[in-house]
Amino acid sequence: MSINTLDSIRYNKQSKAYYDEIRSQIRKIAEEVIRPNAERIDEEGDFPRENLQALIREGWGNVLVPKKYNGLGLDHVAFAIAAEEIGKACASTALVYVMHVGAIQTITLYGNEDQLERWIKPIDKGLVGTYSTSEKASGGHWWYNFSEAKREGDYYFLNAEKSFTTSAGQADFYVFQTRSPGAEDATDISFFIVDGKSPGIEAKPWEALGVRGNHSGPIIYDNVQVHKRDLLGFEGQGKDLLLHGVSPIYLIGLGSAWLGVAQNALHTVIDYANRTIHQDFNHRLGDYQVIRQQLAEVKILIESLKPWQRELAEQLDILQDEGKEQGVLNLSLTEYKVHASEVANRATKNALDISGGYGYKKGTIERLFRDARAGIAMGPSNNIAREWVGKDLVGLPLELWIKGGE
Ligand SMILES: Cc1cc2nc3c(=O)[nH]c(=O)nc-3n(C[C@H](O)[C@H](O)[C@H](O)COP(=O)(O)OP(=O)(O)OC[C@H]3O[C@@H](n4cnc5c(N)ncnc54)[C@H](O)[C@@H]3O)c2cc1C
Repeated sequence: MSINTLDSIRYNKQSKAYYDEIRSQIRKIAEEVIRPNAERIDEEGDFPRENLQALIREGWGNVLVPKKYNGLGLDHVAFAIAAEEIGKACASTALVYVMHVGAIQTITLYGNEDQLERWIKPIDKGLVGTYSTSEKASGGHWWYNFSEAKREGDYYFLNAEKSFTTSAGQADFYVFQTRSPGAEDATDISFFIVDGKSPGIEAKPWEALGVRGNHSGPIIYDNVQVHKRDLLGFEGQGKDLLLHGVSPIYLIGLGSAWLGVAQNALHTVIDYANRTIHQDFNHRLGDYQVIRQQLAEVKILIESLKPWQRELAEQLDILQDEGKEQGVLNLSLTEYKVHASEVANRATKNALDISGGYGYKKGTIERLFRDARAGIAMGPSNNIAREWVGKDLVGLPLELWIKGGE
């Protein structure tokens, strides 16, 4: 069955058969194309372009985009399933994919007809997008920029030192966040679509512990010229865009990618525990209670994430269908991101323990252990996220844009 014939079972859109079919289609690409490349991507630090192109070819690059703009027109549940299945096969590819779909969705929601024609319709030809928000000066407070756009006639000029940008130097376009020209404070934000080929963009190498294919290196924008037709939304609309057009899609995707990584760790180590036999006692590793306990702990944690993922994704769909702001879910989505990334870390830690000295050697488990660490630091970092959740619990404001050392 192809994606197009999914319509035939759409009469009951939320049916298990419908989403099972979606999962089996994305899993086919993940298993046949993405997983076989995962080891090399990590070892060489290669950008997973081949994987992305395979996804884009089958329409998954613009999974949420309406059909009239060459998208698949699927829903957030389908996107979450896709991020999870790709995460099971390769963490680097999953992160690149989530940023790509996120950037596209932001343009789809806030772009004008001309931008949709120029940036979204050609996605099926293989264009890759991403988000460029974080700045060294504000660290993990990625919503807070010090950089500021300048306006001259029909053009804006962008100058910024972005500390991390997934797909830096590889993306065809960046959804770029900065202060509006003449902004009075950091809440006056504007977003731009920046052509990746623009003069003045310099991406630095990504050399990191894990997700080594992610290419989330620093990127410099030196007087990058952007025509006013690539201002996303209107000047000063950035705060709204950040809360409702960036965060929800990014968080559901990110959490789902880590859910996939956790499952990969569990399945890999179950296989190891079943086939590793201590011949002195003729025991498999799985015959030891301590090993079974660790496997079960991770299985239960993983199961706790699945209905949560589905519920959040469905709520995003309902909000979108009703034309309401999706940002109302940001705190719940943040909790989901924290839990999913920590389950991935627990899963990879247990996998390393269960697989003993062999797991410690270079290989899948060691790689997943390194990959999973990125989830803790990626914005909002789990420390920041817990602060938000805790503040909300005791009735304190999040104070994202309080005036600091300006
Ligand atoms: C793999 C990867 C991919 C990324 N991709 C992108 C991308 O595509 N686009 C993009 O814009 N950015 C991206 N980022 C950046 C990311 O979102 C964060 O901005 C970045 O990781 C912050 O790093 P930092 O060293 O500046 O953190 P710092 O802010 O210096 O944090 C250091 C420590 O302090 C803690 N901390 C910081 N502030 C607070 C606080 N207010 N309360 C409590 N604890 C706090 C942190 O949790 C952390 O433990 C990526 C990062 C990684 C690692």
